[in-house]
Amino acid sequence: MNLSTPLSEVPRIGPVYQKRLKAIGITSVRDLLFHFPQMYQDLSVITPLAKAKEGSEYCLKGTLGELKETRTFYKRMSVLEGIFSDASGSMKVVWFNQPYLKDALLPGQEVFLAGKVVRDSRGVYLSSPSYEKAGATTIHTGRLVPLYRETRGVSSKWLRSVIFMALRSLENIPESFPPLLLKERGLPFLKEALRGIHFPGTPREAELAKKRFSFEELFSISLFVLTERKKLAQVKAPVIAFQPEIMKRFTSKLPFELTGAQKKAAWHILKDMEKPRPMNRILQGDVGSGKTVVAAMAALAAQKAGFQVAFMAPTEILAQQHFKTVGESLAPFKVTIGLLTGKSDRFISPKLPKDFIEISRTKLLQKTKEGGVDVLIGTHALIQDKVKFSNLALVVVDEQHRFGVQQRKKLQRRAQLVPHFLSMTATPIPRTLAMTVYGDLDPTVIDELPKGRKRVETKIVAPEERKKAYEFMQKQVKAGRQVFVICPRIEKPQEGESLEIKTVKEEYEKLSQEVFPECKVEMLHGKMGPAEKEQIMRRFARGKTDILVATSVVEVGLDIPNATVMLIEGAERFGLAQLHQFRGRIGRGRHRSTCLLFSESSSQKTRQRLRALLESDSGFELAEKDMRMRGPGDFAGNKQWGLPDFAMENLANLVLVQEVRAAAEKLLEQDISLKNHPLLKKRVDELREKLHLE
Ligand code: ADP
Ligand code: MG
Repeated sequence: MNLSTPLSEVPRIGPVYQKRLKAIGITSVRDLLFHFPQMYQDLSVITPLAKAKEGSEYCLKGTLGELKETRTFYKRMSVLEGIFSDASGSMKVVWFNQPYLKDALLPGQEVFLAGKVVRDSRGVYLSSPSYEKAGATTIHTGRLVPLYRETRGVSSKWLRSVIFMALRSLENIPESFPPLLLKERGLPFLKEALRGIHFPGTPREAELAKKRFSFEELFSISLFVLTERKKLAQVKAPVIAFQPEIMKRFTSKLPFELTGAQKKAAWHILKDMEKPRPMNRILQGDVGSGKTVVAAMAALAAQKAGFQVAFMAPTEILAQQHFKTVGESLAPFKVTIGLLTGKSDRFISPKLPKDFIEISRTKLLQKTKEGGVDVLIGTHALIQDKVKFSNLALVVVDEQHRFGVQQRKKLQRRAQLVPHFLSMTATPIPRTLAMTVYGDLDPTVIDELPKGRKRVETKIVAPEERKKAYEFMQKQVKAGRQVFVICPRIEKPQEGESLEIKTVKEEYEKLSQEVFPECKVEMLHGKMGPAEKEQIMRRFARGKTDILVATSVVEVGLDIPNATVMLIEGAERFGLAQLHQFRGRIGRGRHRSTCLLFSESSSQKTRQRLRALLESDSGFELAEKDMRMRGPGDFAGNKQWGLPDFAMENLANLVLVQEVRAAAEKLLEQDISLKNHPLLKKRVDELREKLHLE
């Protein structure tokens, strides 16, 4: 048996379990061993029986007397009863519904029992404890016992046994990480770490094992990201000359003055594109900070240098919005702009700058291929194989995290030179994340909102003030404004979740029928089809809907200046950065806007966390705060790395992240192609593949 042995070849794992494990992504011995416990139950202290008190859980060691079986009167359930004793005393033990224990536990045998002492009509007894024979190494009792995430049909107890067996049967486990790096940091080797994470002798051992694995994960990601970066530095990109006069003319025609941050960002980008190496930049800026106009400047520069631009938006509505705004700002400069989406294809020609013409898909593609379209704006439709450019020099990707890597490659194939790349996002990315997960991108931050933007007033609303909040909404709607209501879930809570949780469907019913019967209320959620969602958003954007009840699907980049109220239910269920983004969807017009936060929890901690929103207006600051308070689990772009939670937690640790990155850089300096580290190379290749499969 080795790490790549499939589970079908492992004794004791039959077809039924193979299927159950497959459902949670475990198909090989490696997967099994890398299925780490969520926590440990401390059963390492053995209590003398005489000290065990009712109501508490204990781990005990002693001998069992003979077990007698009876049946319950109503359900005919098996009940095994016996007497358990150690040097200090004895106590009754009862097992319900486990008749087979009669054969497994022989009288007089020394065993560990772990369970709760209870009292009921049967008297005081130890209730259905877990048991294990004393003597050999124990795994369920008498130690720190690993608890795994329970899934249907795969219990912690079962996992413990097979993982223990697998660890035993594996003679040597090849080390996957450079031993020197482990030694330098006093971290355990793989075999020891696997044992330490599943069956630690002490909490410290588990801690060190976790540290090793998260170090390894973060290190691999850093390696991946750095190698991508190095590769990019070796290819050629089109040189786009920086022409200051054109940029001056462009800005002079804008109806507003660029903010300092916008100017700086544009300058960085324009300077970058002058180099014969592909730019790889992420432009971060809060909603409403004006990223689009910066992208328009980059597009103009590319066009003036004789190249084409692809501008990708996450949805059809946003693509149309960009088509309109970018089109208007570039029209005076004789730029032709195409719109390619799933549905309608349009075209703006410089001869007709204020309007667009509908043209057929075939014609648009033909023009693009011949270089007759300077800027092609669109959705995912842009990356279809049939979309061909004649000389693409810049790819702009709006509001799609990580999206770039593969998509750019697709677009790249059609260009002789590798185009420059600009990714834009309103999701504030904390520094540590930026260094690892986004480490191949150079960050530019727009940290300033345009002058005159009114602050969105944010309030935490107590439950008893709900009526007042609704009255306020009513007034706003009467005045012609629009309202968003955000709920944490679409429908009925899943099992185990609070019944209090607000759902889109229920709130929609309530608001449309009881609270605001005379208003036009609509709902929007992720289970709807794209066409339906599109229509609902469009009606809202056109002011045909007064109140939109939605989940977090409401798009980030949408500009609806007439929306002035954002009511958020169950606010404690969202991250601060996310709440901040919701809030950014209002306050875009000339009207005062208000964000109302409702919370189902009255805990001090929740209120304190939410209060951060009243105090700060910076998405970046809020993201950092959130990461410190809740860990980094909720940031966009994390999930795809499949990092175990504890590795994600380490992303909050700036010092560690810096150390990881430095170590990865050092290793690459010595061994750029990782030929001396085949296992690391394999891991890096796996990460690449995983990203490309998205
Ligand atoms: P985001 O960064 O969220 O994508 P947009 O680019 O959509 O923001 O800009 C939001 C709004 O602000 C747009 O209507 C845009 O025309 C306007 N805008 C952009 N820059 C400025 C500025 N410097 N001064 C005033 N308004 C601006
Ligand atoms: Mg935007």
